[in-house]
Amino acid sequence: MSLRSIEEFDLKSKNLFLRLDLNVPLNEGEITDETRIMAALPTIQYAIDKGAKIVLASHLGRPKTDEDRKKLSLQPVAERLGELLNIEVLLVEEPNGDAPKALLSNLKPNQLILLENLRFIPAETKNEKSLSEKWAQFTDVYINDAFGASHREHASIVGLPKLVKNHGVGFLIKKEVEMLNKVLKGDDKPFVTVLGGAKVSDKITVIEALVNKVDTLIIGGAMAYTFLAAKGICVGRSLVEKDKIHLAKELLNRFKVRGKELLLPMDHLVVSAIEKPGTALKTENDNIKDGYMGVDIGPKTMDYFCDVIKNAGMVFWNGPMGIFETPEYSKGTFAIAEAMANNTGLTIVGGGDSAAAIAKSGFSQKVTHVSTGGGASLEYIELGHLPGIDILK
Ligand code: ADP
Ligand code: MG
Repeated sequence: MSLRSIEEFDLKSKNLFLRLDLNVPLNEGEITDETRIMAALPTIQYAIDKGAKIVLASHLGRPKTDEDRKKLSLQPVAERLGELLNIEVLLVEEPNGDAPKALLSNLKPNQLILLENLRFIPAETKNEKSLSEKWAQFTDVYINDAFGASHREHASIVGLPKLVKNHGVGFLIKKEVEMLNKVLKGDDKPFVTVLGGAKVSDKITVIEALVNKVDTLIIGGAMAYTFLAAKGICVGRSLVEKDKIHLAKELLNRFKVRGKELLLPMDHLVVSAIEKPGTALKTENDNIKDGYMGVDIGPKTMDYFCDVIKNAGMVFWNGPMGIFETPEYSKGTFAIAEAMANNTGLTIVGGGDSAAAIAKSGFSQKVTHVSTGGGASLEYIELGHLPGIDILK
């Protein structure tokens, strides 16, 4: 069974429970990055235009103490949504109380309801049926557009749609699933996957899921050093997961047996101390001398990787090529972003830091899709499904 999109429901004067991912970073009550709010707007605007009576719901951070509760209120998000949509946003302090139902009965067309941070109520994360039942009392249509939370078995993600038979997905999830399904199918050839980031252990399941589908796997970032070490190459003091060297050997062999390419850096940017970016040096080849550690891929590697990326039918990229947060170590990561932008096929970026990196590079608009899902997108690639999506099928 396929997913039903929000467009398939009659929303006129219907009570719509819209689960969003409005989990934006805050600094002293100021929203520091509104990507997630902007990404949610098309679905909200569509529901407004169709005359739905809207209850928005989202989590924000991981509140534990009373102090956290003050810091993690959705109040700043309510204000911003009000401005962006030119509508009155009524913030309901108790998501599990009777207020939403009462407000809905008299809701005006230029008003919508936003429930306060769902994680303020333990019943949400515990997926307690009583909470879902409370929401189901007033919900005619349930729409999930919170891809970044769809790997969680929480009340607003799986509990409520179980009780509301009119359930479906918003525009954001529709696109996420469509794009990530293309990665899972791997039909657009040659299919190149670029992996990087800090740890091999974070990405093993992704590699396992894609090993049969990719034509070429490019590995950069700190992950690469474990693979280079597995090939017996000196990596100096670079980050290596010793307990993963054996697995890296096995993966190198699997690629060889299948006649597929697994590309590793052929030169590096290295330093003797991370906090001294001014002292960074380029290596001659893939060897790193004792006392030095790799912080980015080198220029030869950039050219080599970028050439492969430019000529691919589809590229999936997860994980930066170096410590891109430090400008001196960001060239390799930004070069990949640019090569993705110059590719005319399908280009898909997944992962929280990778999404931040491509945004920083200025090339976000030039790729086919940047997943806002963070951990959820990787889990979807690994498993091919998510609890919050399964329940809507
Ligand atoms: P994503 O969130 O996109 O899945 P990861 O969390 O796996 O990406 O990896 C991002 C982190 O990897 C960044 O913080 C970056 O600094 C780090 N990283 C990349 N290359 C290196 C390196 N050579 N040494 C240390 N850390 C690295
Ligand atoms: Mg990360």
